[in-house]
Amino acid sequence: MIPLFRPAPTARLTRLCESRTLKVKAAGATSEAATEQWRKAEAAKDAIRSLLQGMAPGRQRCMYCLDNLGTDIDHFKPKALFPLLTFEWENHLLACSHCNSNEKRDAYPVDADQRCLLVNPAVDDPADHLRLDLSNGEYEGRTPKGWTSIKVFGLNRPDLCEGRLDAYYLCCDELPVWYSKILAGDNAGAERTARALRREFTDVLAVLEQLAHSPTAALALGRDLADALEAWVAASP
Ligand SMILES: [Zn+2]
Repeated sequence: MIPLFRPAPTARLTRLCESRTLKVKAAGATSEAATEQWRKAEAAKDAIRSLLQGMAPGRQRCMYCLDNLGTDIDHFKPKALFPLLTFEWENHLLACSHCNSNEKRDAYPVDADQRCLLVNPAVDDPADHLRLDLSNGEYEGRTPKGWTSIKVFGLNRPDLCEGRLDAYYLCCDELPVWYSKILAGDNAGAERTARALRREFTDVLAVLEQLAHSPTAALALGRDLADALEAWVAASP
């Protein structure tokens, strides 16, 4: 997971969502009413999905696993538990169908003080709660919220861990390639490589960028990769 910036909703989206929320209220504000209105709200869902696709990491990836295409609109606070938040823009995230339907579903764990125990990448900095171990591709929790998120989102599914390891190896190969293009003055080639890296390997790159600040980066990564990474961080927007 990486932090995401949520844009303000468009006037049209706000209008469509407010109208649907009024209908949920008028029908008793039950989960059944929310489900019924959500099923019918094609125009609102299209507008929500379009705005979410613009804030999704990489190539419109799932905001939880970052691996699969984000196909579903997830209600961070499930509509079964919070019917009146069904059409609340801040409650929408883009998820893959696996994360949405097989992992998170209607889960919304809270602690003893009723504080949410799931990382919301549009609200929290996931790095405060999760640490990615590049030796095995697995996440570890830094906080109870992090550990709960790993469990509820299924962040350590074997296919995801393998994908992160592959991403790590490819980043290690490609960052020095990017740097060699910079040194050779091939700015267009370097930009193509940088764009591909950012679109494909967002979460692993974020971890590597953190490592660049470590005094032992050269020891851990090797001199060539550490030099490339230092230049990458300096050139990052
Ligand atoms: Zn997913």
